[in-house]
Amino acid sequence: MINIVLFGKPGAGKGTQAEFLKTKYNLTHLSTGDIFRYNIKENTELGKLAKTFMDKGDLVPDAVTIQMLESECNNNPDSSGFLFDGFPRTISQAEALDAFLESKNDRITATVALEAEDEILVKRLLERGKTSGRPDDQDEEKIRNRYQEYNEKTAPLMDYYKAQNKFHSVNGIGSINEITERLSEVINNLK
Ligand code: AMP
Repeated sequence: MINIVLFGKPGAGKGTQAEFLKTKYNLTHLSTGDIFRYNIKENTELGKLAKTFMDKGDLVPDAVTIQMLESECNNNPDSSGFLFDGFPRTISQAEALDAFLESKNDRITATVALEAEDEILVKRLLERGKTSGRPDDQDEEKIRNRYQEYNEKTAPLMDYYKAQNKFHSVNGIGSINEITERLSEVINNLK
């Protein structure tokens, strides 16, 4: 069983790459952003709550996000491994995930980051916003706030996973194929 955390700033291409990797390595793809958006579309209580944060580009509170993620994992008891996309995004989430996996005699195998410069990513997100319909992609101020959230709360996770010898990064600029290849090279070499 391998469990991979796909790490990177908003717009780095996590979702795009996850689509390829989940098939290639037979992993259950869990994107917390996608799950929140599904709940918003279905107008659930969770969706209504998440929307108030997401529309501003703020992170949804840890307790809500962790509970949701754990129940998604529990809903896939036969999974041969998870590909976490957009989770964890805070140290508390990472600690909760470690504890949760440990309770199942499991663990994170590796964290792989897609690296790209902010200015390229902001342009990418504004471009995506023209077709994605996502309110958080359409306004530069909200996008900048997402980067601030990332820098303050998510970037410290790099040290968290480095301390566990689980952090890898690849250049996130290139064709979709090239980047899948770079990620695969890391995953194929995991012990
Ligand atoms: P994403 O699709 O990963 O870019 O996430 C879109 C938005 O969903 C984020 O800006 C947050 O508001 C919310 N979100 C997604 N994942 C998390 C998470 N792990 N913790 C808190 N908020 C999250």
